Amino acid sequence: MRFTIPKEIKDIADVLEKAGYRAYLVGGSVRDLLLSREPKDWDIATDAKPDEVQKLFFTFAKATADKPATIYENQFGTVGVKTSSEDERLKVVEITTFRIEGKYTDKRHPDEIKFAETIEEDLSRRDFTVNALALSFVEGIAGEIIDPHGGQKDLKEKIIRTVGNPRERFSEDALRLMRVVRLAAELGFKVDKETAKAIQDEAGLLEMIAKERIREELVKIIMTLRAATGIVMLEDYKLLRYIMPELREGIGCGQNKHHIYTVFDHNVRALNYTAEKKYPFHIRLAALLHDVGKPRTKRGEGPNSTFYNHEVVGAKLTIKILDRLHFSKDIVEKVAHLVRSHLFYYNVGEVTEGGVRRFLRRVGPENVDDLIKVREADRIGSGVPKAVPYKIRHLLFMVEKVKNDPISPKMLKVDGGDVMRVLGIKPGPEIGQILSILLEEILDDPSKNTSEHLELRLSELGKLKEDKLSELSRRAQERKEEFESGVEREIKKKYYVK
Ligand code: ATP
Ligand code: MG
Repeated sequence: MRFTIPKEIKDIADVLEKAGYRAYLVGGSVRDLLLSREPKDWDIATDAKPDEVQKLFFTFAKATADKPATIYENQFGTVGVKTSSEDERLKVVEITTFRIEGKYTDKRHPDEIKFAETIEEDLSRRDFTVNALALSFVEGIAGEIIDPHGGQKDLKEKIIRTVGNPRERFSEDALRLMRVVRLAAELGFKVDKETAKAIQDEAGLLEMIAKERIREELVKIIMTLRAATGIVMLEDYKLLRYIMPELREGIGCGQNKHHIYTVFDHNVRALNYTAEKKYPFHIRLAALLHDVGKPRTKRGEGPNSTFYNHEVVGAKLTIKILDRLHFSKDIVEKVAHLVRSHLFYYNVGEVTEGGVRRFLRRVGPENVDDLIKVREADRIGSGVPKAVPYKIRHLLFMVEKVKNDPISPKMLKVDGGDVMRVLGIKPGPEIGQILSILLEEILDDPSKNTSEHLELRLSELGKLKEDKLSELSRRAQERKEEFESGVEREIKKKYYVK
């Protein structure tokens, strides 16, 4: 088999070989080459010690690249060599000295790292047979595959299996529990029986793993095409309870007449749709979590059961789950917002332009596309999709129609200064209240957004008695909250709220 290996990699291997060292391509890149997949990164293993690698490549960098390479060594003896490649995957090539790992007392990090003499020793510390493959170089040309653990056979049979005793391998580094699922989802592979049994038995070890590492693997699982299978595998292998226990509340939680799936299955199916569509991460996550609040809000049983407020409860749970996994504030807010807003109601002829403006004010015009994607995932994932694409197209048409209309106090033709001037009042909370009264009127009729009209309204408002004014402000607030709660309550009742 001939492999296409980038020039940068061949050059680096050549430098090592010429200096009398061995160089091998290892890990995921060999696996991916054998599968005819594009490797995500190119890792080289060598018997040269890190300081020797550093010395060699300092000269190499000077001799071959325009700029001298910055070279670093990390705590695991990996040296990064900067190349002049434009390709992200080749900008830094990691060269790791052969090593075997000592005992793991904390189930996370080896107590010590020992350098090894041979590639075979190095391969034996790697996690899975399909990752324990190496490709040798001869004069910078790809040579033979080194496969002491039957990795090629497992690649052919599409099986993930640990190198050596699975129980031991998981107790050395419990993140491998999730790496199995990630790799199986990425490659569409099955998990060897003994390996699968060991995952279930050792699942609890995941509690020892830093949340950041768990999060990284979870993100990778969700970003695969088989994200939904990945989540189901996490559940089957008893891992999900340590990652997103709240999602498990939906297992066996039946729904009403609008659904044929349980809450859990529905969430997973919604995720599946977004993965098939290759949507970005935050949309996939919002689809997976969109109904996470249902089990806690379920009232009644059978076809008429209800889930009032599940989007609000769900958004709170979403924040809790994602904070716990140390997701960035940006992701937490975006996903929670989509979960909170996923239930928007729209029906042609029933929702007015004012309603659409309020919808935009609530969800933010920049989030409309994402929200519609989550909504589509919800619909397809229900198993009984109703024919609504027309409604969505109509909503988009309406959004387009009203998109330049004022939807926030900042877009009014009067500002706080005008309010103070016309009403002769000092800065204070009333200013905001008065602006929201005006905004409520403008949301219904944007043609009134002129300074003449609004100044007139301001002086009228100024003449109102204080209690009348606070009554108006209270009503504006109520109206706002009514829309912010997702759907008008009456409509919710009428449609049982999915
Ligand atoms: P990807 O395609 O995502 O890069 P990969 O298999 O290359 O997948 P990396 O995280 O880049 O995964 O790791 C490179 C190699 O290092 C793996 O193929 C494997 O041989 C080894 N490895 C990585 N993590 C572990 C681990 N936790 N335990 C043992 N070996 C590991
Ligand atoms: Mg890799």
